[in-house]
Amino acid sequence: MAGIWAGRTAANQGRRPQIVLLEGSSKLGRKILISGGGRCNLTHQVVTPADYAGSSRNAIKKVLKRFDVPATVKFFNELGVHFKTEETGKLFPTTDRAQTVLNALVREAQTYADIYHPCRVESIVRCQSTGGFELLGDWGSLRARSVVLATGGKSIPKTGSDGHGFELAKSLGHSLTPQLFPALVPLTLTKDHFIRDLSGMTLVTALELWGPTGKRLERFENSTLCTHFGLSGPAALDVSRYYLAAVKDDPNVSLTINWAPAWNENSLGEQLRSESQRRPYAILREQVPDRLAKALLDCWQADPDVPPHAPETVACQLSKKAIRSLARIVTRMPLPITGTRGFDFAEATAGGVPLQEIQLQRMESRVCPGLHFCGEICDVDGRIGGFNFQWAWASGYVVGVALGDSPVSSERAPFNSPQPPSLDVT
Ligand SMILES: Cc1cc2nc3c(=O)[nH]c(=O)nc-3n(C[C@H](O)[C@H](O)[C@H](O)COP(=O)(O)OP(=O)(O)OC[C@H]3O[C@@H](n4cnc5c(N)ncnc54)[C@H](O)[C@@H]3O)c2cc1C
Repeated sequence: MAGIWAGRTAANQGRRPQIVLLEGSSKLGRKILISGGGRCNLTHQVVTPADYAGSSRNAIKKVLKRFDVPATVKFFNELGVHFKTEETGKLFPTTDRAQTVLNALVREAQTYADIYHPCRVESIVRCQSTGGFELLGDWGSLRARSVVLATGGKSIPKTGSDGHGFELAKSLGHSLTPQLFPALVPLTLTKDHFIRDLSGMTLVTALELWGPTGKRLERFENSTLCTHFGLSGPAALDVSRYYLAAVKDDPNVSLTINWAPAWNENSLGEQLRSESQRRPYAILREQVPDRLAKALLDCWQADPDVPPHAPETVACQLSKKAIRSLARIVTRMPLPITGTRGFDFAEATAGGVPLQEIQLQRMESRVCPGLHFCGEICDVDGRIGGFNFQWAWASGYVVGVALGDSPVSSERAPFNSPQPPSLDVT
């Protein structure tokens, strides 16, 4: 995006600066290719700053509004990528293939830029006399007037986004947020937890994060997948970064699951008290799959506070304590989280270069002029649904326009390489 918009903006002003894209991986756009289950959910019908965490939402808003969803749709349509909007509001290419998105971007980028790969940048040196930069790697070196760090975060490092960009930013004087941790990451549960035995079951739940004083901090109601290690699926992925951030601050926070969001603790309690014909099993089966209903009733029977009762007892005959216990187990069950599956399985990175260190009008460093940032390297992470890409498109656009607007020498930036780097971009 940055390369395309730098090229387009300069071309509109009759200039053609040399733009070089260096990709460390042997394959271009690996993360685009695996995104959205290989379909690339490249934006969402409605994107607001509230869909993001990290730096202040006001700062995030300033960038998002420069390149909004209609602009994204128009941009990709012009590149020949057409969309369908799913019920959830997510936009996918009509081909259902992430490759369509990658091909379109690479084709357009090649109009304005030279793409070299694999060309991993190991270090960047600021040249004090010229104000430019020298980029170095085992392929040689390259001098540049401006540099954009679009190196992503640390999630799924084998794609090439292995966090080295953070080191490059630090070497040029930037600080990083005190914490860098996986976002949109599956959560692991204690070894013998019954949820692990429900592996493969998907249902809509509400995951709620509670502060130490009992205040609800976050709530995500969405599809949830029970797995052999714990919980995954959109609700679990969305809540993960908030849980991790909160538990680092205070280990007394808790995460609970409401297995049947149509009920809350009170409404289920009331319903149980009013049911004079049905047993709890029949009532739970209204809302949850059979296997889960049985597992929840087992948890309930195991609660030492629940007085013994015959299995055929109808709901309204249960004791107050038994009703309270069941309502809590179904709607506010504490989850004994042991950790996460880590960066190898995370879809995003929480933390990064703070937006306070970036001048947002140009996405240019406040500490190292000429250095720019876009995408996941910034301290911005979105929820599931196309929000992370929308941030990447918008911040890439802002950088590109800023660079394309700055007249630079038309001299070609010299490579200093023993062998010319590979130009194979297929
Ligand atoms: C499995 C998965 C699925 C996802 N699905 C979606 C989705 O459907 N929708 C959505 O909005 N978001 C999704 N995301 C998140 C989204 O892919 C990222 O937020 C987005 O790709 C970030 O873009 P970026 O350009 O900042 O970084 P990246 O896409 O990570 O690209 C950074 C590039 O920089 C290269 N690089 C890194 N360091 C160097 C170096 N030193 N020298 C040279 N090159 C370097 C890397 O090889 C990489 O190709 C998904 C993420 C994952 C892991």
